[in-house]
Amino acid sequence: MPPPRPAKRTGTVPAGLAWLETPLESLGWLQTPRIRALHRFGLRTFEDLLTHFPRRYEDRREFDRFPQEETEKPVCICGNVLKTASRRFQGWRFMFDVTLAPADAHALSGQIVCRWYNVHFVKKMIATGQRLVVFGRPRRRGKQLMIEHPEFEVLEPDSEEESIHLRRITPVHPATEGITARLLRSWIHQLLAEMPELPSPLPPGLAGMPYAEALRAVHFPEDWETLHAARRDLVLAEFFTMQLFVGAKRAEVVLRPGEAHCGAGRLLEAFHRELPFPLTGAQNRAIQEIRADLASPRPMNRILHGDVGSGKTVVALSAMLLAVEAGYQAAIMAPTQILAEQHYLNFKRWLEPLGVRIALRTGSRKEESALPLFDEQAWSAAVRDGDHARRAELLKRDEEPQILVGTHALLYEGVSFSRLGLAIIDEQHKFGVLQRAALIRQPVLPDVLVMTATPIPRTLTMTLFGDLDVSTLDELPANRGKIVTAARDASKLPDAIEFIKKHLAAGRQAYVVYPLIDESAKLEAKAAAAEFEKWGPIFAPHRCELLHGRIPPEEKDAIMERFRKNQTQVLVATTVIEVGIDVPNATIMLIENAERFGLAQLHQLRGRVGRGSHKSYCILIHAADTPEGLEKMKTLEATSNGFEIAEADLRLRGPGDILGTDQSGLPPLKIGDVLADTDLMQLARTAAQRLFAADPELAKPENLRFRKLLAEKRKLALARVS
Ligand code: ADP
Ligand code: MG
Repeated sequence: MPPPRPAKRTGTVPAGLAWLETPLESLGWLQTPRIRALHRFGLRTFEDLLTHFPRRYEDRREFDRFPQEETEKPVCICGNVLKTASRRFQGWRFMFDVTLAPADAHALSGQIVCRWYNVHFVKKMIATGQRLVVFGRPRRRGKQLMIEHPEFEVLEPDSEEESIHLRRITPVHPATEGITARLLRSWIHQLLAEMPELPSPLPPGLAGMPYAEALRAVHFPEDWETLHAARRDLVLAEFFTMQLFVGAKRAEVVLRPGEAHCGAGRLLEAFHRELPFPLTGAQNRAIQEIRADLASPRPMNRILHGDVGSGKTVVALSAMLLAVEAGYQAAIMAPTQILAEQHYLNFKRWLEPLGVRIALRTGSRKEESALPLFDEQAWSAAVRDGDHARRAELLKRDEEPQILVGTHALLYEGVSFSRLGLAIIDEQHKFGVLQRAALIRQPVLPDVLVMTATPIPRTLTMTLFGDLDVSTLDELPANRGKIVTAARDASKLPDAIEFIKKHLAAGRQAYVVYPLIDESAKLEAKAAAAEFEKWGPIFAPHRCELLHGRIPPEEKDAIMERFRKNQTQVLVATTVIEVGIDVPNATIMLIENAERFGLAQLHQLRGRVGRGSHKSYCILIHAADTPEGLEKMKTLEATSNGFEIAEADLRLRGPGDILGTDQSGLPPLKIGDVLADTDLMQLARTAAQRLFAADPELAKPENLRFRKLLAEKRKLALARVS
C-alpha cells in the first residue's frame, strides 16, 4: 500500500453531490490496473466505492482467545505463523496447513491449524513468521483443533496497520479476485479522508447525523452504537431514493389525463342481489375503494391482492359493472386460456340476466363473431368533448360487447379499445410490468386494476407495487371447508391412493399434480402421457383425464368442462391448473415431487381445493432432504394463511427474486433489508409522499436536489438494464 500522495487532478473536482459522481480515474493514488479491476467489480465512481458497504465487521480492539474447543460461533483471532505444510493426496489434490500461535505466545496449547484444500493462491500468500487475522469456525479433527477455509488477512509490518486494519472495529468489505478486503479497506479509508462535507440526500429532519459522517461511520465505526445509527441513516437514504422513484412514477400517471368511469350503481346492486352468498367485509371494502377511484377523474392504478379463494372475481365484476353503467367498456385479462374461459362462462351466467353484453377474446379463438365495426371517430369525438349523451347513444346503436374477457392477447390484437374505461389484469404475478405499460399507453388512461393471488407482505407493497394503491382481501368467505395438508415421503404413496379412492367413492373429485422438468414440448407431452398411463388404471372405474400445457385449446376446454361437470373424477395435470381454476367438488389434491415446487407455487396449487363446503385435503408426496425443503413442507402443513406463506417464502428465497431490477425497475438495494427494515421503509415512504403531495413535479427550488438525484439514479437504472 503506497502512502497517500496528493491526488493528480485534471480540472477541478466538484463539491457536494457532484463529488460523489467523480470517476475513480481521478484518484491519483489508484493505479490503472486497480481501477480496471474495480470497474469489473461494478465500481466506477466515488459514490460506488463509498457505498460498497462492509459485509461484516471484526472487533479487532480485542481479538477472541485462541479456542480450546469446537464452537458454533466463528472466532476472530490474531496469531503468528509457526509453520506451513503442503501435502498431496489422491493425485493432484493437496491440502495446505498453517499452524498459528497467539501473537503473545507463551502457552503452546493455544495453537490452531488453518487448512485449505486445493487453493493455490493461499499457498502463495502465507509464509512462516507472518502475522495473520483469521476468521472461521474451529472444528475438532482427530486430536487437532482446526479451522477449514477460514477468511484471513496477512498483516503488514507498517504503521498504517494500527490505524486502519487493527485496534478498531474493522470492516470486511465484499472482495473479489485481485481486490482483497484489505485493499478495499485502505482505499475506502483514503477516499473518506478526502471526502468534503456532503448535502444530505434526505429531507430535513430525517437524518440523525450529517451524510458524510454516516458514510465514515459505517465503514470505520467508533463503536457499535455509532455504527447502528449510521446504518439507520444510510438505509433511510436508500429507501427514500427508492420511494422517490415510486413517487415519481405515480406522479407521472396522476398528471396524465383520465376520466371518471363510474355509474350510479344500479347494475351493481342487481348483480349483488343475484349472488347466492353475501359478500365478505373485505370484498365490500375493496369494492368501495375501487368505486371511489372509478368516480374520480384521476386514473385508477390499484392492486387487489388476496389469498386464493378470497373472491377477487366478484370484486372485479362489480368494478366492471360500474364502468359499463357509465357507458364504457371494461376488459379483464387472464394469464391463460383456461382461466379466461372460466371467467367468461361465470360472467355470462351472472350477466346475461342483467342484459350486459359480454364477449370472449383469446389468441386462438373468438366466442362471438368478429366485433362489429365501431364508429371510432364519433366515439373519440364524444370522449374528447365529454359528451355523455352522445356516447350513450353510440353505445346503444351498436352491438359491441360491454365486457371483454380474454388473455393478454387482448392487448395486442386489433380489439377496439377506444372506449376502454376499465382494464383488469388477473393474476398479475404471471404478467410482466410490460403488459401494464401497454395499457398505460392508451391516449386517455383507462382505470387499471391488477389482481394477484400472491399475498404481498407489507414491505413489498410499499416498494415493488409502491406506485399502486392497495386493496387487500384478508378474509375468506365463511362457507369454506378446511384444507388439511399432509407432507409424506414417497413410501406413503399407496396409503394416499387408498385415501383418494375412498373420497372418490363418496362422490368427490381429485387433482393429481406433478412437475415437469423438461421444457421441450415433445418431451413434456411424452412425460405427461407416461405419467397418465400410470394413473388411469389406479383410479378405475372412476374416470381420469390428462391436462397439460401442450394440449390444443379446444381440447383443453372440453377436458375442463367434463371435469367441472363431474363427468371425469380425476384430473392428472401439470401446473397449468395452478391459477384460478374453480371446481368446488374437487376436494383432494395429490402433489408428486412436491419438493421441486416453490413454496408460493405449492400454496397456489393447493388453493384449487377447499373451494366448496366439504373438508379438503392436500397431500404432498416429497423427497425433500435439505433443511429448506423440509422447512417448506412444514410451513405448508402448519398454515394455509397466504400472508404467512408469502413471508416465509420471502425469508427462504430472499427478496432478491422479487425485487430484481427487471421485475420492479427499481434500483437494487445495497444496505437496506426490505424484510428487517420495514419501519424505515414506512418512514421513507411517508417522507416521499409528503414531498410529492406538496410539489408533484419537484419544481420548487428546495426540491431541485431531489429532482437531480432522481434523474441521476434513473440514468443509472436505464444503463443497467440496457
Ligand atoms: P380468487 O380470489 O382466488 O380469484 P374466486 O374469485 O375464484 O377466488 O372465488 C372463489 C370461489 O368463491 C368462487 O366459487 C366464488 O363464486 C366464491 N365466492 C366469492 N365470494 C364469495 C363469498 N362472499 N361467499 C361465498 N363464496 C364466495
Ligand atoms: Mg382468481
